[in-house]
Amino acid sequence: MKIPFLDLKAQFLTIKDEIKNKIDSILESQRFALGPEVEALEREIASFCGVRRAIGVSSGTDALLVSLMALEIKPGDEIITTPFTFFATAGAIARLQARPVFCDIDPITYNLDPEKLALLLQKIRKTRRAIKLKGIIPVHLYGQCADMDQIMALARSYHLFVVEDAAQAIGAEYPSKRGVRKAGSMGIAGIISFYPTKNLGAYGDGGMVLTNQEKLAQKMMKLRVHGERRRYFYEAIGGNFRLDALQAGVLRVKLPYLELWQEKRREVAARYETLFEESGLIERKMVSLPQAVYKNRGLKNYHTYHQFVIRARKRNELQAFLQEKGVETFIFYPRPLHLQKCFAYLGYKEGDFPEAERAAREVLALPIYPELTPEQQVYIVDCIKEFFSQG
Ligand SMILES: *Cc1c(COP(=O)(O)O)cnc(C)c1O
Repeated sequence: MKIPFLDLKAQFLTIKDEIKNKIDSILESQRFALGPEVEALEREIASFCGVRRAIGVSSGTDALLVSLMALEIKPGDEIITTPFTFFATAGAIARLQARPVFCDIDPITYNLDPEKLALLLQKIRKTRRAIKLKGIIPVHLYGQCADMDQIMALARSYHLFVVEDAAQAIGAEYPSKRGVRKAGSMGIAGIISFYPTKNLGAYGDGGMVLTNQEKLAQKMMKLRVHGERRRYFYEAIGGNFRLDALQAGVLRVKLPYLELWQEKRREVAARYETLFEESGLIERKMVSLPQAVYKNRGLKNYHTYHQFVIRARKRNELQAFLQEKGVETFIFYPRPLHLQKCFAYLGYKEGDFPEAERAAREVLALPIYPELTPEQQVYIVDCIKEFFSQG
């Protein structure tokens, strides 16, 4: 059986007519950059994510960049983030000549470990670097929120901003002491990505910055169009970070389905859990499953399963075996950022972040999407059983 890692066509077929009508109407309008379609999407996403303002931009990466620009990050500033994330999180920091400072992850959630963060902050406080440290970018990896109450408390006591990278976690909920909060709504800003493979994917690139701060929103709207205040008069040095109307139109068609699709992802995850429990592989410690740490806390979107990531013995051999069986899998991410060549100048070495390094060796993402069938899942788990029964 051939099982692709992601089947976007299956989703497209269910909404094809609506998408075509929407695209037609935008073609008729001939308004392609920003405009009413983007503004409508911004209002809808803001409401969906529980924030006052959402600013449509050209990608999740640009959403990170424009937030840091709006927060006036300067060369030499330092920002703490996780080494176990997609490149863009640290890339955005480095592109402003600021310095990514890495902090190891929690091995259960793969998100920033608040205890290690506390230790790192204590250590930095005693050095001259303390003054350069400006913020923290936690990432809600795989669709589950980082431990935001603890991260926000640390940020407050050290006077740091928090920008949440919620690129993989649109709609994910967090059981904050202050009530249920959505990913991207807790820091001074949050970013989401509409890259086609994300839970809410456009038909091209797109992203959004979320914020409750009107002033910051205004600043980002300016930076998104080169820093222009009114036509051809510039108050800041921005860039072209505009979101296309066509992408916004596609996203507006999809958004009403997102809750349902997230629910189906959780059903797929639950089915994997049952199948793995029955397989005996967990008992034998051949694989371990992702943990939804906020489950049973009264949340619906306790996890949005952007990815279903297991840890596996002999991970690379297992991946090759599954490939031969027609099952496509991915490794997010095979090399932590502190060991990437482009960040060698930061001076990190192997062993600095043992949990991120171990995760990079052990994780394997299995296919997960709303349209994945029980038969396909049975086949996937059977193949994994077969691999481990070969001894
Ligand atoms: C996808 C992603 C981004 C970047 O989003 P793009 O829209 O691809 O630019 C940033 N951070 C994380 C964690 C991501 O998964």
